[in-house]
Amino acid sequence: MSQTPAWEGYRRFTVTRKVPESATVTSFYLVPEDGSELGSYRPGQHIGIKLDVPGQFIPVMRSYTLSDSPAERGHYRLSIKREPAPTDDPGQSPGVSSNFMHDHVAEGSTVELSAPGGDFVLRPEGKGPVVLLSGGVGCTPMISMLAAINDVGAARDVWFIHGVKNGVEHAFGDFVRSLATERPNIHAHIRYSQPGADDVLGRDFDSTGHVDMDLLRQLLPGPTPQFYLCGATPFMTSLYQGLTEWGVDPFQINYEFFGQASDLTGKAGLDDGESHQVTFRRSGVTVKWTPAVGSLLELAETHGISPDFVCRAGNCHTCVQHVVEGAFSYLHEAIIPPMDDSDVLICSAKPDSDLVLDF
Ligand SMILES: Cc1cc2nc3c(=O)[nH]c(=O)nc-3n(C[C@H](O)[C@H](O)[C@H](O)COP(=O)(O)OP(=O)(O)OC[C@H]3O[C@@H](n4cnc5c(N)ncnc54)[C@H](O)[C@@H]3O)c2cc1C
Repeated sequence: MSQTPAWEGYRRFTVTRKVPESATVTSFYLVPEDGSELGSYRPGQHIGIKLDVPGQFIPVMRSYTLSDSPAERGHYRLSIKREPAPTDDPGQSPGVSSNFMHDHVAEGSTVELSAPGGDFVLRPEGKGPVVLLSGGVGCTPMISMLAAINDVGAARDVWFIHGVKNGVEHAFGDFVRSLATERPNIHAHIRYSQPGADDVLGRDFDSTGHVDMDLLRQLLPGPTPQFYLCGATPFMTSLYQGLTEWGVDPFQINYEFFGQASDLTGKAGLDDGESHQVTFRRSGVTVKWTPAVGSLLELAETHGISPDFVCRAGNCHTCVQHVVEGAFSYLHEAIIPPMDDSDVLICSAKPDSDLVLDF
């Protein structure tokens, strides 16, 4: 499903509108600075952004999903959640890119974007039923997919099922509810984990708690639709495992991580006692890898080596490295493999033997 990128490297875009979608998520509408054509994209795809953030030694690069329908030809839209410092470690700096976007990127600002890409895509005109399952800001690809299905006028049944903390953090609520009201084939269910005093059941949200398998069994006709999942790792892990136990074929489950990708099958980490030596040859470092470390990228970072990366999900190929010697495998299936078998996407791979990388 790979496609030729609409352009190489980065292009400058101007922010034409900045619209709050909730207390934590803000949308940025972007048009090419030189007035040239936008590259096309498919619902669910993302771009890379490159930001010069004061105080950062190198440009900050992150991935953001295009949250609008591809039929909205005049602009790209990114919807970005402000990332605070972790609640269990509030002394850390808040998220660099998201806070910079919220606080310092305004209408008229320019940013640099790489071309849309990624394989987490939906064919809106497809015929079968589809379930769009999201937690928090993981709704952005689902909003693009839902809008695209609406734009092509597809009659397929769509369930948009979304979990979020409360009405303050709930983005795109009016958009989803209006589509579900207008279109009999679009079904929406919003679940708040901690509704606020002003949140009204039946108006703002439909149930309380976390999105779980009991809810899916109640809402869905059975395990036959195509599923799309995006949210925090515990959300993805519990639903992926619950769906497969319910009888959903893993090939029907499409998912995307917004952070470090991980294995959703529950099979990783069962190989107790496994360990391998990994040599980062040009860095002059040889270190021990165990399953607890995670990916080769995390191993490098733990030992003060800083390879380039953007998506950390095996999609963007920024982290690709050449393998001089040894065997490796991927930690999850949702990668786009490099063309050359002796190259490895270190963000998503682990060693299967002692390994030498040309880095
Ligand atoms: C394919 C893809 C699509 C995405 N789409 C979207 C989207 O549509 N919308 C969206 O909002 N996001 C999206 N993301 C996530 C986005 O790319 C960023 O990861 C996110 O915005 C956080 O980036 P940041 O620079 O703000 O935070 P970072 O600076 O990367 O920090 C992340 C978190 O780590 C904490 N932290 C910082 N330092 C430390 C430390 N030393 N120890 C522990 N914790 C620390 C920060 O406080 C913060 O909470 C997507 C990601 C991918 C891979």
